[in-house]
Amino acid sequence: MKIRQTKTLKQAKLQALIFSLIMLAITVTHFIVGSVLATKNSLIGIILIVMGFLWGGVTVWDFFYSRKRVKRSFCPACGTKYDYVNDISWDEMNQNASADKIVSEVRMECHCPSCGRTDAYFQKFTIARYDKNKGQWTRQDIVALMRNYFIK
Ligand SMILES: [Zn+2]
Repeated sequence: MKIRQTKTLKQAKLQALIFSLIMLAITVTHFIVGSVLATKNSLIGIILIVMGFLWGGVTVWDFFYSRKRVKRSFCPACGTKYDYVNDISWDEMNQNASADKIVSEVRMECHCPSCGRTDAYFQKFTIARYDKNKGQWTRQDIVALMRNYFIK
Protein backbone atom coordinates (compact mmCIF):
# COMPACT_ATOMS: atom_id res chain seq x y z
CA MET A 1 0.00 0.00 0.00
CA LYS A 2 1.31 3.36 -0.98
CA ILE A 3 1.09 6.05 1.63
CA ARG A 4 0.61 9.42 0.07
CA GLN A 5 2.17 12.11 2.19
CA THR A 6 0.49 15.40 1.66
CA LYS A 7 1.38 18.72 3.09
CA THR A 8 -1.23 20.63 5.02
CA LEU A 9 -1.99 24.26 4.28
CA LYS A 10 -0.47 25.23 7.64
CA GLN A 11 2.78 23.39 6.90
CA ALA A 12 3.02 24.95 3.45
CA LYS A 13 2.41 28.45 4.83
CA LEU A 14 5.02 27.90 7.53
CA GLN A 15 7.54 26.64 5.00
CA ALA A 16 6.97 29.69 2.80
CA LEU A 17 7.31 31.97 5.82
CA ILE A 18 10.59 30.37 6.92
CA PHE A 19 11.93 30.79 3.40
CA SER A 20 10.93 34.47 3.43
CA LEU A 21 12.64 34.96 6.80
CA ILE A 22 15.87 33.40 5.49
CA MET A 23 15.76 35.79 2.52
CA LEU A 24 15.09 38.68 4.89
CA ALA A 25 18.09 37.65 7.00
CA ILE A 26 20.29 37.64 3.88
CA THR A 27 18.99 41.12 2.97
CA VAL A 28 19.68 42.48 6.46
CA THR A 29 23.16 40.91 6.48
CA HIS A 30 23.97 42.69 3.20
CA PHE A 31 22.92 46.03 4.69
CA ILE A 32 24.79 45.55 8.00
CA VAL A 33 28.05 44.28 6.49
CA GLY A 34 27.72 46.79 3.64
CA SER A 35 27.26 49.73 6.00
CA VAL A 36 30.23 48.73 8.16
CA LEU A 37 32.48 48.41 5.11
CA ALA A 38 31.09 51.58 3.48
CA THR A 39 32.10 53.68 6.50
CA LYS A 40 35.65 52.48 5.85
CA ASN A 41 35.34 53.79 2.28
CA SER A 42 35.23 50.31 0.88
CA LEU A 43 33.76 49.86 -2.59
CA ILE A 44 32.64 46.37 -1.58
CA GLY A 45 30.48 48.02 1.10
CA ILE A 46 28.63 50.06 -1.54
CA ILE A 47 28.21 46.99 -3.74
CA LEU A 48 26.80 45.02 -0.79
CA ILE A 49 24.27 47.78 -0.05
CA VAL A 50 23.13 47.85 -3.68
CA MET A 51 22.83 44.05 -3.61
CA GLY A 52 20.89 44.41 -0.35
CA PHE A 53 18.28 46.51 -2.16
CA LEU A 54 18.02 43.90 -4.92
CA TRP A 55 17.67 41.08 -2.40
CA GLY A 56 15.10 43.13 -0.52
CA GLY A 57 13.05 43.59 -3.67
CA VAL A 58 13.16 39.90 -4.51
CA THR A 59 12.27 39.05 -0.89
CA VAL A 60 9.14 41.24 -0.94
CA TRP A 61 8.10 39.89 -4.34
CA ASP A 62 8.66 36.29 -3.21
CA PHE A 63 6.72 36.85 0.02
CA PHE A 64 3.55 37.83 -1.83
CA TYR A 65 4.05 35.44 -4.74
CA SER A 66 4.61 32.38 -2.52
CA ARG A 67 1.49 33.17 -0.47
CA LYS A 68 -0.64 33.11 -3.62
CA ARG A 69 1.16 30.02 -4.84
CA VAL A 70 0.45 28.16 -1.60
CA LYS A 71 -3.20 29.25 -1.65
CA ARG A 72 -3.88 27.98 -5.18
CA SER A 73 -2.27 24.62 -4.38
CA PHE A 74 -5.03 23.64 -1.96
CA CYS A 75 -8.73 22.99 -2.42
CA PRO A 76 -10.62 26.12 -1.28
CA ALA A 77 -13.52 23.98 -0.01
CA CYS A 78 -11.83 21.34 2.15
CA GLY A 79 -8.15 22.27 2.24
CA THR A 80 -6.78 19.15 0.55
CA LYS A 81 -3.53 19.71 -1.28
CA TYR A 82 -3.76 19.06 -5.00
CA ASP A 83 -1.44 16.47 -6.39
CA TYR A 84 0.03 18.07 -9.50
CA VAL A 85 0.10 14.89 -11.58
CA ASN A 86 -3.33 13.54 -10.65
CA ASP A 87 -5.47 16.55 -9.76
CA ILE A 88 -4.34 19.39 -12.00
CA SER A 89 -4.77 19.62 -15.71
CA TRP A 90 -4.16 22.51 -18.06
CA ASP A 91 -4.65 23.43 -21.67
CA GLU A 92 -3.06 26.12 -23.71
CA MET A 93 -6.02 27.97 -25.23
CA ASN A 94 -4.40 30.64 -27.34
CA GLN A 95 -1.26 32.66 -27.85
CA ASN A 96 -0.88 36.37 -28.30
CA ALA A 97 2.32 37.55 -29.86
CA SER A 98 3.48 41.14 -29.78
CA ALA A 99 6.78 42.69 -30.81
CA ASP A 100 8.56 41.84 -27.58
CA LYS A 101 6.69 38.96 -25.97
CA ILE A 102 4.43 35.97 -26.47
CA VAL A 103 1.67 35.51 -23.93
CA SER A 104 -0.11 32.22 -23.60
CA GLU A 105 -3.58 31.90 -22.15
CA VAL A 106 -3.92 28.69 -20.19
CA ARG A 107 -7.05 27.08 -18.82
CA MET A 108 -6.25 25.49 -15.47
CA GLU A 109 -8.46 22.87 -13.92
CA CYS A 110 -8.01 21.69 -10.34
CA HIS A 111 -9.98 18.71 -9.19
CA CYS A 112 -10.12 17.89 -5.48
CA PRO A 113 -9.75 14.14 -4.81
CA SER A 114 -11.36 14.49 -1.36
CA CYS A 115 -14.53 16.51 -1.83
CA GLY A 116 -14.89 16.40 -5.59
CA ARG A 117 -14.85 20.14 -6.13
CA THR A 118 -13.53 21.27 -9.49
CA ASP A 119 -12.24 24.77 -10.09
CA ALA A 120 -11.36 26.07 -13.51
CA TYR A 121 -9.81 29.40 -14.35
CA PHE A 122 -7.77 31.14 -16.99
CA GLN A 123 -4.30 32.42 -16.41
CA LYS A 124 -1.90 34.28 -18.67
CA PHE A 125 1.76 33.32 -18.84
CA THR A 126 4.55 35.04 -20.67
CA ILE A 127 6.26 32.19 -22.48
CA ALA A 128 8.76 34.15 -24.55
CA ARG A 129 10.44 37.52 -24.46
CA TYR A 130 12.42 39.34 -27.08
CA ASP A 131 15.77 40.61 -25.88
CA LYS A 132 16.59 43.72 -27.91
CA ASN A 133 20.22 43.79 -26.80
CA LYS A 134 20.89 40.21 -27.81
CA GLY A 135 18.49 40.38 -30.74
CA GLN A 136 16.95 37.04 -29.89
CA TRP A 137 13.97 35.40 -28.24
CA THR A 138 14.19 33.76 -24.85
CA ARG A 139 11.61 31.04 -24.45
CA GLN A 140 10.28 29.51 -21.28
CA ASP A 141 9.30 25.90 -21.02
CA ILE A 142 5.55 25.96 -20.45
CA VAL A 143 5.54 22.48 -18.84
CA ALA A 144 8.04 23.63 -16.21
CA LEU A 145 6.15 26.91 -15.83
CA MET A 146 2.93 25.06 -15.02
CA ARG A 147 4.64 22.75 -12.55
CA ASN A 148 6.23 25.67 -10.70
CA TYR A 149 2.90 27.45 -10.56
CA PHE A 150 1.94 25.09 -7.73
CA ILE A 151 3.85 23.91 -4.68
CA LYS A 152 5.14 20.34 -4.57
ZN1 LIG B 1 -11.81 19.58 -1.51
